[in-house]
Amino acid sequence: MEKHKQVMIIGGGLSGLSLAYFLSKKKISYQILEASSRFGGRIQTISGKLETPMELGATWFSDLHQALMGLLDELEIGKYPQYSKGISLFQTKSFEPPQSFNVPESETPSYRIVGGTQQLIQKLVGLLDPKSIQLNKKVTGIEELGDKMRISTADGGLYVSSKVVLTIPPQLVNSQIQFTPDLPDHMKQLLSSVQTWMEGAIKFVLEYPEPFWRESGYSGMLYSHCGIIAEMYDHTNFEESKFGFTGFLSGGAASYSQETRKEFVLGQLVELMGEKASNPSSYSDKIWTDEFISAGSQLIQRPHQNNGHPSLHESYCKGKLFFGGTETSTEYSGYMEGAILSALNVSQKF
Ligand SMILES: Cc1cc2nc3c(=O)[nH]c(=O)nc-3n(C[C@H](O)[C@H](O)[C@H](O)COP(=O)(O)OP(=O)(O)OC[C@H]3O[C@@H](n4cnc5c(N)ncnc54)[C@H](O)[C@@H]3O)c2cc1C
Repeated sequence: MEKHKQVMIIGGGLSGLSLAYFLSKKKISYQILEASSRFGGRIQTISGKLETPMELGATWFSDLHQALMGLLDELEIGKYPQYSKGISLFQTKSFEPPQSFNVPESETPSYRIVGGTQQLIQKLVGLLDPKSIQLNKKVTGIEELGDKMRISTADGGLYVSSKVVLTIPPQLVNSQIQFTPDLPDHMKQLLSSVQTWMEGAIKFVLEYPEPFWRESGYSGMLYSHCGIIAEMYDHTNFEESKFGFTGFLSGGAASYSQETRKEFVLGQLVELMGEKASNPSSYSDKIWTDEFISAGSQLIQRPHQNNGHPSLHESYCKGKLFFGGTETSTEYSGYMEGAILSALNVSQKF
């Protein structure tokens, strides 16, 4: 069955959801088609056994991220500084003791969202019309039909709209969606060369019943050039009632099983922080290479390559097709801020 909406938004991450929110304020009708079984994309907060909110995706932001801060204020979502008091550790060589350092208090703080980054997604979803946001709708085709656009999904769905905004990573546009007529050649080449921020990253989270590191004067912050943990931070909740760590594993960790990764992570922590680290309430990690972020072959030479490229700001199909999503933003591309800026930018075109 064909349904008509003014704007069809492809992708239900922060960019697609905030675009729908901005359009709803302008009384423009929209429909979000999201391929996966959840909203949020690269934002994914999970709950540990002790119900600690733990971030497998986006976590931090700063005062520089004014669009994000503005949206959080508007939606009445709180923020709090990342804990960094006490001794932080830097491991340069496996056979030498780690170096200790203190993060200066004057530095611009990193913030986290009270209750977890998913709060932002849940709040936005709650403000949108439930009939206008759909999960499990992977877009596979976009066809220009006169002054309309026809969108097809992998499950055989067909939708008609006046405009289409793609908020999925540009590489996925190229690998997943068939355009009729085809996009210009220069655009197809460009799309496959736009770096997808955090594709391939491995984020881990750990939950503990007690903040044993804080009690021993440690910040929980760790940087390492030799262990499986490359970066780690305290992951205590806003209320300071749930405790843990989060961080990134080194790239090579993707070749191990999750059980082996957990074993190596705990081994590194026990060596640095003692036996109390050996028994977490839960451990999870996520390798960001699934079909919702990865086109399978990155021909990328540098971080943020071709992010914010001018061709991503032009319209196609005679003013009916637009690009959004964090990779299209000229400022803070790759970050949550870029996702919101891209949505604001596109919303001003309608
Ligand atoms: C591990 C990790 C850590 C991060 N840390 C931070 C951080 O600390 N601070 C920060 O600011 N940012 C961070 N980021 C980046 C931040 O998550 C992103 O900038 C932001 O969430 C991107 O939002 P988006 O809507 O542009 O894209 P996405 O979140 O990628 O949303 C795109 C959506 O499109 C869907 N989709 C894909 N293909 C299709 C299709 N064919 N049809 C329909 N839907 C489709 C996807 O399932 C997804 O939901 C991190 C990201 C990761 C992965």
